[in-house]
Amino acid sequence: MGKVIVFANQKGGVGKTTTTANLGAYLAEAGKRVLLVDFDPQGNLSSSVGAHVEEDSIYDVVTKGIPIKEVIQETTVKNLFVVPSNIDLTGANVELIEEKEREFFLKKVLNSIHEEWDYILIDCPPSLGLLTVNGLVAADYVLVPLQCEYFALEGLTLLLQTIQRVQKNLNPELSIAGIVFTMYDSRTKLANEVVQEVTNYFKDKVFRTIIPRNIRLSEAPSHGVPINQYNASCSGARSYKELAEEVIKRV
Ligand code: ADP
Ligand code: MG
Repeated sequence: MGKVIVFANQKGGVGKTTTTANLGAYLAEAGKRVLLVDFDPQGNLSSSVGAHVEEDSIYDVVTKGIPIKEVIQETTVKNLFVVPSNIDLTGANVELIEEKEREFFLKKVLNSIHEEWDYILIDCPPSLGLLTVNGLVAADYVLVPLQCEYFALEGLTLLLQTIQRVQKNLNPELSIAGIVFTMYDSRTKLANEVVQEVTNYFKDKVFRTIIPRNIRLSEAPSHGVPINQYNASCSGARSYKELAEEVIKRV
């Protein structure tokens, strides 16, 4: 049965989208059928895998009842598909807030296709608002990308409280897949301290794989392909491949 993993952290620029796209690509390369769901109105995940963002999107699925199957797009990677998002989704935030069961829209949509995928990966916007809560409610696992810098820790407590609240009230099935360090620079003392401190606290909830800061990872999105099709031998590519192996074992 398919696993739904949501990538959440209310801080922007911590590597949620980069991790969703590239982990998805390596899960697909390992032969898994993978569906990326872009649930951020910025649509970065969509464009980073070359989706046509002007076509019907997750917004139309969630608010107009268009079947999700009609908006799934292929990517250049075999086994990797995407449900695109665009700025329209900003409206969903407002439109859904009045609805009953407003936290369950994404879950209901994904329930209808759950069985057909090995992994469904949901990328969230940088907030703990209704879209992210929908993501947490729809998921079996939450994966938290954490940038190796001092302020990274600041928001973590609030994120964990939100996860606990969702577990208690909305989705008891949700578990924490783990924390993954991103943009790690081994030369900085601070990065090493953050890794130490978080690992001491969260222990085996921390993924062994650490994603280094790697310029190729930031270049690939502008080519509309994941890192495995842009530069498969760079350190960023190798680490996302390793992370995929770890995720397959854990999740
Ligand atoms: P988020 O989705 O959390 O806002 P992104 O994945 O979009 O974060 O990453 C923010 C920026 O940092 C993007 O420009 C991205 O290309 C870049 N980036 C992400 N991960 C890395 C990395 N490991 N090394 C270098 N640049 C990265
Ligand atoms: Mg993002």
